[in-house]
Amino acid sequence: MSQLKLASRLDPIKPSITLAVTAKAAKLKASGVDVISFGAGEPDFDTPEHIKQAARGALEGKTVGKYTDVAGILPLRKAIAAELGAVHKTTIDPDQVLVSTGAKHSLFNLFMALLDPGDEVLIPAPYWVSYPDMVMLAGGKPVILPTRPQDNFAVTADQVRAAVTPRTRAIVLNNPSNPTGGVYSAAQIEALAQVVLETNILVISDDIYRQLVYGDATYHSIAAVSPEVAARTVLIDGVSKTYAMTGWRIGYHISQIATLAALTGPQQCVAEMRKAFDERRLAIVRLLRAIPGVTCVEPQGAFYAFPDVSVYLGKTTPQGTVLADDVQLCDWLVEAGKVAVVPGSGFGAAGFVRLAYACSMQDIEVGVDRLAKALGSLT
Ligand code: PMP
Repeated sequence: MSQLKLASRLDPIKPSITLAVTAKAAKLKASGVDVISFGAGEPDFDTPEHIKQAARGALEGKTVGKYTDVAGILPLRKAIAAELGAVHKTTIDPDQVLVSTGAKHSLFNLFMALLDPGDEVLIPAPYWVSYPDMVMLAGGKPVILPTRPQDNFAVTADQVRAAVTPRTRAIVLNNPSNPTGGVYSAAQIEALAQVVLETNILVISDDIYRQLVYGDATYHSIAAVSPEVAARTVLIDGVSKTYAMTGWRIGYHISQIATLAALTGPQQCVAEMRKAFDERRLAIVRLLRAIPGVTCVEPQGAFYAFPDVSVYLGKTTPQGTVLADDVQLCDWLVEAGKVAVVPGSGFGAAGFVRLAYACSMQDIEVGVDRLAKALGSLT
């Protein structure tokens, strides 16, 4: 077979060297070789017992298997906002916090959200292996600023000033640094903050190691320099290193173990759920087809019905509004009809609506009845 053609955006991307090394070490270990791995940046400690205990408790809750708030569950965002607010001497609202699947994921999302093709990101070297690749994947251009061991690998304010162009969007500041362990002094941080204000670039402050500082060194936050600098700072932080939680991916590990059990355990539950969905499928299609003017193809999989309701478009509500399209129709259905369905135009099929029938039979009966009554009131 010819080699699989990959997207050209992957051309400049290299596999993470640290992970490659670690994987190799793990493979060797598994085959009985006594390997000492200096590979991954991963604490050898076990996750503390009270944290594991919390996860066990979470499994008992009703929400553990549900979608979380996209930004992360509110109690967690509140806790993060409070902690980071104190660390960075600023006020952080929970709405400013975005919980992702680890700091790596957060950085990737950030670059994707920030960079247009050719936008430049300043990256002091030595740098954490993934920064340039992530910038390139997002279409940006990494601009590497070399530093010297005799300067403790600190990038200087003058270096940054000289490197900034009209295309520069941000500088990545990894303090303490992976791989050098360098920690910036208060004076260095203040000088860098000054350049940030002069040039109006953003600071991406990757502080994932901020609690791991030794000897006389102290962690100094660039965001804490002034509210103006804080406003130009994106904080990247995480629990991986501090709490020996590299594999959790913020709650994700629970899901991985659950998935393994799901795939390898008894499959009877699947058959039972499928049977219930099937009954609901037949009921909802029957009820939808009973609404005048509505047609509905019988769905054969998943748990959605996707009826054509286009005969109701352009009609007038009892309140006197003309419903020009399916978006307006669905808007009105929720408000006036107390039934929520999704406009088909979101799926590239204007005039249709989507109903998920992964709900109780009673909801199906009452909900479609509401839909029918609402549609019937249009003239
Ligand atoms: N930033 C730096 C500097 C790191 O060293 C690492 C982990 N090697 C990360 C981010 C990613 O951490 P996480 O496990 O939270 O994705």
